[in-house]
Amino acid sequence: MQCGTDVLEDQYVICKHCESQLPFTNFSQIQNSPVEKIFWGRVKIQTVVSILFFTKESIVQKIVFELKYKQNKKAGYLLGKLIANELIYSNKHKHIDYLIPIPISRKRLRGRGFNQAQVICESIIAHGYNIPIFKGLVKLKDTPTQTHKDRKNRGNQTNSFFFLNDFENLTNKHLLIIDDVLTTGATLEAASYILSQSNPASIHIATAAYTLH
Ligand SMILES: [Zn+2]
Repeated sequence: MQCGTDVLEDQYVICKHCESQLPFTNFSQIQNSPVEKIFWGRVKIQTVVSILFFTKESIVQKIVFELKYKQNKKAGYLLGKLIANELIYSNKHKHIDYLIPIPISRKRLRGRGFNQAQVICESIIAHGYNIPIFKGLVKLKDTPTQTHKDRKNRGNQTNSFFFLNDFENLTNKHLLIIDDVLTTGATLEAASYILSQSNPASIHIATAAYTLH
């Protein structure tokens, strides 16, 4: 992940210049942004932020690929930093009680060695947005690969893949779900739906990237 022109410090996956050139969405400054509209009519979400645009062959795709398929935690460290920078200065995220990383199945966890959303959460905390991580959301098995066009048909089907421990602890709490990439929103919708069963005060979502269709 070298751009060739800069010396990389140890903890970084790209240099400061490349970081400043990333395709930031600036969605947090927009009312009813595209990522918030994704969930309209599906499940009640208070706010949705996605920091970067994810497009094919882009540097954002490379960073996410490093994190998920090359076991490169530095990529997650960067994505967590970018999310933290957004949350720390956001008036809408002052009262969050728990960060909730989207879980992966035990099978996938064995293969990958870590949950990428968990790595992102740990980086968010390390970069100053110091909110405890809720660990009671569990993925029972892998969600089948889904395409954009069958989004309408799969709502209830995906719900059964998540399981929630610690129901009571979420009641009247403000929850912030964290994931790497928001694409159709099906996974986040399923997770939000099961979390909503515990009667939280609010559910928010923050992802590192948003897939442009
Ligand atoms: Zn660079």
